Amino acid sequence: MPGVYLSYPFCAQKCTYCNFASGVFPRELEAKYLDTLLAELRAVKWRWMPETVYLGGGTPSQMDTAALAGLLNEIPGRVWREATMEAAPGGITADRAATWVRSGINRVSLGVQSFVARELARTGRKHTADVVHREVAILRDAGISNINIDLISGLPGQTRASWEESLAWVERIGAPHVSVYMLEVDEDSRLGREKLLGGVRYGAGNMPSEGETADMYEVAVDRLEELGIPRYEISNFARPGFESTHNLKYWRLEPYVGFGADAHSFDGALRWQNVESPVDYVERASASALTQPANLMEEKFFVGLRLSAGIRPTPQEWRRFESPIRRFVHDGLLEATADTLRLTRRGVLLSNEVFQEFINL
Ligand code: SF4
Repeated sequence: MPGVYLSYPFCAQKCTYCNFASGVFPRELEAKYLDTLLAELRAVKWRWMPETVYLGGGTPSQMDTAALAGLLNEIPGRVWREATMEAAPGGITADRAATWVRSGINRVSLGVQSFVARELARTGRKHTADVVHREVAILRDAGISNINIDLISGLPGQTRASWEESLAWVERIGAPHVSVYMLEVDEDSRLGREKLLGGVRYGAGNMPSEGETADMYEVAVDRLEELGIPRYEISNFARPGFESTHNLKYWRLEPYVGFGADAHSFDGALRWQNVESPVDYVERASASALTQPANLMEEKFFVGLRLSAGIRPTPQEWRRFESPIRRFVHDGLLEATADTLRLTRRGVLLSNEVFQEFINL
């Protein structure tokens, strides 16, 4: 059953490391955007019942609660199996959490990134570890116990000791789902550009090396495993039963439909995406920027292999990719059984190199 994604690209601040098409925009644009998004949803002739809903961004937790309820009312299938809202810690109150629950939200993904004050200050984030702790309790009191915590390894000033501190907070809070991303230096973020130009703003002169960033990620893999939160996807860890149903659709090549700026869709054969910028979106509504057929065989490898469970190639796929599979198994990056193929622990760290070989072969 397909999932529905709603994009809300508005944030209270632009984080230094962020390379998404999201940020701080005028209030008038936000109002027009919500109208356009509502119109896009109302135009759908639902011939299927969504199983999951995901509100991403941006910071959808800052959306006006009446507008949120209006959008979710347009989506059939409530009570959804999973309805996630991405949230920035710092603005979660009992009232807001109660309205989210009434609108159908049953999972919250918290953009924590770090529990260490000096690391947070450099990213532009406003919360503290205590705020996260308090707001998780508010969510639980409201009935939302399915909570994800996002962490980033490789932030400016981060050390092995400070990383341990963040992981200790994860344990204390007891969230059943954790996402761990390794920061990549990217010219589309302020921090990335500063680093590439050799500057020192935003802590760019004091960033862990790629090796240190990978080591911290590995520490998290071990620590979370000990806590009963094993890795099920390269960046995602969950207590059994708390894996994200919506996000699994992306990695399993199952259908989903996205609404809003830069939202992507996939119907099992075709992929399309809405225009990227919110300004263009309100002017051109849901005009697709790009529609193209999916290459399911390649995608099964470079998307499906992200899952710890791996993939089950068909005989035709084993034959087509025989050469790279043989090489990566020999190099210890992939492991193959009679019918499955998966990344090894070392293969996860070098996954981009592995995936590259399955594209355009
Ligand atoms: S990281 Fe999240 S909160 Fe920060 S600017 Fe990007 S989308 Fe907004």
